[in-house]
Amino acid sequence: MKAGQAVRKVATPRRNSVFTSIDLDRDGKQIGYFNVPQSPHDDAWGSVQVPLAVVKNGEGPTVLIEAGNHGDEYEGPIALGELLREIDPADIRGRIIAIPAINVRAVEAGTRTSPVDGLNFNRSFPGDFNGTLTNQIAAYVNDCLFPIADYFLDLHSGGSSLMILPSAIIEPSPTPDGHRRNIRATLAFGAPTVVMVDNLGETRTSTAAANLQGLIVIGSEMAGGGLVSQDALAICRRGIRNVLKHAGVLQGEVEIPASANARVLKVPGAEGYIISDEDGVFEPITELGTVVNKGDIAGRIHFLRTPQREPLVLYHPIDGVVFAKRQPGRVRPGNCCFVLANEYPEALVEEEAGHER
Ligand SMILES: [Zn+2]
Repeated sequence: MKAGQAVRKVATPRRNSVFTSIDLDRDGKQIGYFNVPQSPHDDAWGSVQVPLAVVKNGEGPTVLIEAGNHGDEYEGPIALGELLREIDPADIRGRIIAIPAINVRAVEAGTRTSPVDGLNFNRSFPGDFNGTLTNQIAAYVNDCLFPIADYFLDLHSGGSSLMILPSAIIEPSPTPDGHRRNIRATLAFGAPTVVMVDNLGETRTSTAAANLQGLIVIGSEMAGGGLVSQDALAICRRGIRNVLKHAGVLQGEVEIPASANARVLKVPGAEGYIISDEDGVFEPITELGTVVNKGDIAGRIHFLRTPQREPLVLYHPIDGVVFAKRQPGRVRPGNCCFVLANEYPEALVEEEAGHER
């Protein structure tokens, strides 16, 4: 346990039937599954197998790394799979627990949400062992993995509906000390941009749930659009190893290129979102990473069935940087077209304060 880290009480898991042959306390490398019993028509006593791996060498911190939270976000699962294949337990001190395709049915389908129950894994915490598959998987992570981890790295990309600036994401912690630790660890990831995102106060995400249990939490958003980006993949590979070095699990200095942490931003809240009120076709005009002023033209919504109607012009609601942009052309009322982030210099002050502790 790192100096300054709060002592966490390990809760007893809620009663459940999940089982695994992986021994999370044994030294060495094991790659297998945890099994979530289901009982469908064609498999009365079967299970859904969710990939689970552990790499352990003696005493030390535990870093839990999650990818495939959304099944159409690919850089995280690719980079985490590479790490698991490459790493030798002798290279580490402590433990890496990896869940590289956690929302496994969505990963198989290449969809954001689970095709089994339609749920978004990242709106399902703290989960429910008596609920549907997605609820059960979330409950296992919440009750059985978070309590034995010190760090939680959750790897995302924009997914099919968004393109996002490749970024390390600060999850705001409920405590000032936790917040400083999260900022330090997120800057250590070494992405070009760092953004604090609180998802409008959402408590059902895996990072919010990990924060509640006192873990040091780091997120990431790597490009998106349902694509695999070479640049984002390189950032993700380096970021995973950097977080492991920051935690003291991998030896060596954190590798921060000169271009990393160039912008430290935050999504200010609802005013940072441009939401469509109309049904039409979205034409984005500003590109990701563009610095914009309030009132600048962001994009247009076109009405193809009524050619006599002028397109609706969308304006940027605040001064800031274009952090996320809608990917599909088709847009309906309530769809998110842009997310803006603005400067967050306080993060660097907090990070300095964290060093002094
Ligand atoms: Zn995601």
